[in-house]
Amino acid sequence: MRLDKWLSNSGFGSRKDVKQLIKSGAVTINGTAVKDGKKQAVPGEDKVAVHGEEIVYREFIYLMMNKPDGVISATEDNFHETVIDLIDEYFQSFKPFPVGRLDIDTEGLLLLTNDGQLSHSLLSPKKHVPKKYYAEIDGAVTGKDAEAFSCGVELDDGYVTKPAVLEILEVSGERSKINLTISEGKFHQVKRMFLSRGKEVTYLKRMKMGRVDLDPILEPGEYRELTKAELESLL
Ligand code: URA
Repeated sequence: MRLDKWLSNSGFGSRKDVKQLIKSGAVTINGTAVKDGKKQAVPGEDKVAVHGEEIVYREFIYLMMNKPDGVISATEDNFHETVIDLIDEYFQSFKPFPVGRLDIDTEGLLLLTNDGQLSHSLLSPKKHVPKKYYAEIDGAVTGKDAEAFSCGVELDDGYVTKPAVLEILEVSGERSKINLTISEGKFHQVKRMFLSRGKEVTYLKRMKMGRVDLDPILEPGEYRELTKAELESLL
């Protein structure tokens, strides 16, 4: 791997920043100062250091974010803040992207990575990765809704959903609180499933994806790296 790629992928800024750093003589490979960013170093074999401090190469990053309301799950947007704007420069330098999308007003668990293979496999319809949502509903949710969701409901475009598990947490007059676990990810799926039952989602938050729970210590907009166990559960 080229030395400049190693460093830019390790949070040392753009290729231009890295070039300057290397030119300054601050970078060594196996203890020898190297001034050419094109020089090769082998991850796991060679030791790259900046000002004497070893920089372990990493290719991928895996983050969980508690996505806040009002932010777009995309890498770029002309009008709104994106989830990428919320992460610091170090992680941005890995060029992460969100694994799937949450609506602008949906909160909760969003994974961000630069590992295209993992993202692809988590989103693959063949994998049926379960996603658990907490929702507040305008309408009194009943056992009949749970039964309908367990069989599959027809959405406005004629698509019939796969079986989903509805847990009714609280019904108070015409307001309900529920958990819904679905194993697919159609556009606005949870909102449209409730619309098919004549009810409206007024608040939506993703709580879990696969076996990874949203860390309750994360405030909206906060994120952290996945633990090794969380990552392994997704692989
Ligand atoms: N279902 C929705 O309706 N919106 C989301 O953001 C996620 C699932």
